[in-house]
Amino acid sequence: MPQTLSRRALGKVAVASTLAASAGPFVHTRQARANEQVDVVVIGAGLSGLNTAGILAESGLGVMVLEGSSRIGGRVWSAEESWETNAGEVPIELGASQISPSYARVLDAVDRLGLELLDQDRELLPFSAHLKGLHIKAEDWANSPANMLVGDERSIPAMQFGSTMLARLNPLIELDDWLDPKFTDYDVSIHDLLKRNGVSEAGIRLTEVSGLGADLHGVSALRLFQERTRGALELEFASEDGSVPTPKNIKGGTAVLPQAMASQLPGAVLIGQQVMAIDVEENGVDVRTIDGGRYRARFVVAAIPFSVLRSISVWPKPPEPQYEAIQTLKYAETTRAFCRIKEPFWQEDGFEPGLFSDGAVRMFWAIDNHKGGGEHRGMFVLSGRSGEQVAALSPEAASQFLVDELARLRPASKGQVEVLRFHSWGRQPLQRGCSPMFAPGQVTKFARDMIIPHGRLHFAGEHTRRLEYGMEAAMESGERAAFEILDQS
Ligand SMILES: Cc1cc2nc3c(=O)[nH]c(=O)nc-3n(C[C@H](O)[C@H](O)[C@H](O)COP(=O)(O)OP(=O)(O)OC[C@H]3O[C@@H](n4cnc5c(N)ncnc54)[C@H](O)[C@@H]3O)c2cc1C
Repeated sequence: MPQTLSRRALGKVAVASTLAASAGPFVHTRQARANEQVDVVVIGAGLSGLNTAGILAESGLGVMVLEGSSRIGGRVWSAEESWETNAGEVPIELGASQISPSYARVLDAVDRLGLELLDQDRELLPFSAHLKGLHIKAEDWANSPANMLVGDERSIPAMQFGSTMLARLNPLIELDDWLDPKFTDYDVSIHDLLKRNGVSEAGIRLTEVSGLGADLHGVSALRLFQERTRGALELEFASEDGSVPTPKNIKGGTAVLPQAMASQLPGAVLIGQQVMAIDVEENGVDVRTIDGGRYRARFVVAAIPFSVLRSISVWPKPPEPQYEAIQTLKYAETTRAFCRIKEPFWQEDGFEPGLFSDGAVRMFWAIDNHKGGGEHRGMFVLSGRSGEQVAALSPEAASQFLVDELARLRPASKGQVEVLRFHSWGRQPLQRGCSPMFAPGQVTKFARDMIIPHGRLHFAGEHTRRLEYGMEAAMESGERAAFEILDQS
């Protein structure tokens, strides 16, 4: 049986993380270290792999990290492009940026590594909606002809419709309830869950549009309930007036965190080492990379998404249902275009600054500059199918398409929006998506068993989460994999 941590275990996190760190070099060339035998090879230098490597190294094991790309951090990626905030110029974050006060492991690492935190300066301005061909102010939604909702559904703000309904229907209380067989009845598509609870057809359709990042037929309600139940933990950090503290960002960009974690490893982090085969034997594991590198270790940790692991040869084949999990766990696309808004065009058209639409733009965020006039930050945020369609274009064509489409819906934005950087996570060859999405029935079928070590091959990565989400889930999984190995060493 896999280890299922209880909510109380959150308090024990610091034990693993406060082990003393030793400084060392971090990026070596392949030629310098290939064919070396170590105790543990970790595949992937994202937060999960680096946390595994750090804990094992501090416990005295010889560890080597193989990273397939030319960069450390995985889905933590601070771009070269920057934009202006109250804290001055900050890098555009293509991936993770928000650090919640409930992130025990991430905060502990930030503290140990001497990194500085800043209050996040990303306040979203209100949204108008563009639905069924009509541009609608928030205050007009309840009585708009585009509002086809029924009864008390009509007064729920359009953009919040899906999240409001799911919050009402979420039966989970404890963080590991999503893995408890007694909730199997909720391992159905979001569409079916809404339907069986009497949500109108128009409401189900609006939920699909309202950007849960999920195909309503293709994602299990339990998958979304896990995140929502974990999200509710943030409320425990609320002040007496009920306000939840502002999330933090890392000064210099989130990528500073994985870079600092890598720099503390006494062993090597080899970049440009894309693994293509893992042979699991009785006495050790052989790992081969696409450029002919060969590494032998007593244990291997695959700290890479299943969307990538499925194209690596693992011999012998993992048992079912783990093999099915590796082959079929879906990943959602997230496509973003980071923009400069030259002037607040919403002052001209009189609608709320942000836009939520049933067209190709889906969501346009306008970020407050706290000055009223002048330049603002903006962001196109597309997920699921709409993200995939736009990402199929070249970054230049996709950027132009989004800007033109926004101008079609809101002529006042014409000439005011400039894309600084376009990014699709689904198009990254070593990620192939933003986050794991269990299909209906898959939580029951394999969520518990997919993390069981396959002989000397262990699994980490945020998709192997138990209680957490986001960066904290990556750290949680790395810690679990490290302890599995320490238990056997
Ligand atoms: C757009 C976006 C926004 C996000 N925002 C937040 C946020 O604000 N707060 C938050 O907490 N979380 C956020 N997250 C989630 C967070 O980024 C992830 O949970 C976390 O970074 C995942 O870490 P990981 O180690 O599991 O995987 P990854 O970061 O994906 O690391 C896997 C590593 O393995 C490498 N790799 C893959 N295949 C191979 C191979 N064959 N050989 C060698 N190496 C390989 C990859 O290059 C990568 O470096 C966001 C994610 C995205 C995409």
